[in-house]
Amino acid sequence: MAYLFHGTMFARKTKTLIDYYNECYHAGESVIALKPAIDNRYSTDEIVSHDGERIPATVISKDQERNLLDIVMNYSNIFIDEIQFFSQDIIKPIFQMEKAFNATVMCFGLDFDFKKNWFETTKELYMNPSIRKFHMRSRCAGEDCVNEATYSKKLDDSEEVFDVGGKDKYLPCCQFCWGLL
Ligand SMILES: [Zn+2]
Repeated sequence: MAYLFHGTMFARKTKTLIDYYNECYHAGESVIALKPAIDNRYSTDEIVSHDGERIPATVISKDQERNLLDIVMNYSNIFIDEIQFFSQDIIKPIFQMEKAFNATVMCFGLDFDFKKNWFETTKELYMNPSIRKFHMRSRCAGEDCVNEATYSKKLDDSEEVFDVGGKDKYLPCCQFCWGLL
């Protein structure tokens, strides 16, 4: 089975990935976590949550995306972090893993960029009816706002969509506060 956990920044996506990873690991199941080469925020060979929890990860370069099956062959549980930073080449292998060796594949990532446009890879997975979807949300960072955040608002003036960052660069916000913050 393939799963997509999608949402804003600070929606506890990576923390959820780490929790599921540890659950599989402690149950004695084979497990591997993948991350895109672009994301060097905290560590190169680990996935690290905002609160500092960490697990080992295999870094996947652009060239390796098409041949992902060779890397993850026969793992029962495959976790993919920051799915929005992979190209759409990764989508076919995701469904092949499920079919070829009955893997559980869990993908985690942002759905929208800071301009409220879909990240294409997340969108293509989201639109596929064979994947199970979970919408993860955080609280809107707007003053006195109690809404759930559905977008990530960028704080600086850079126009770069593939710009890795944390609270220094982004705030989660609802559709109303997106235009105000
Ligand atoms: Zn708000």
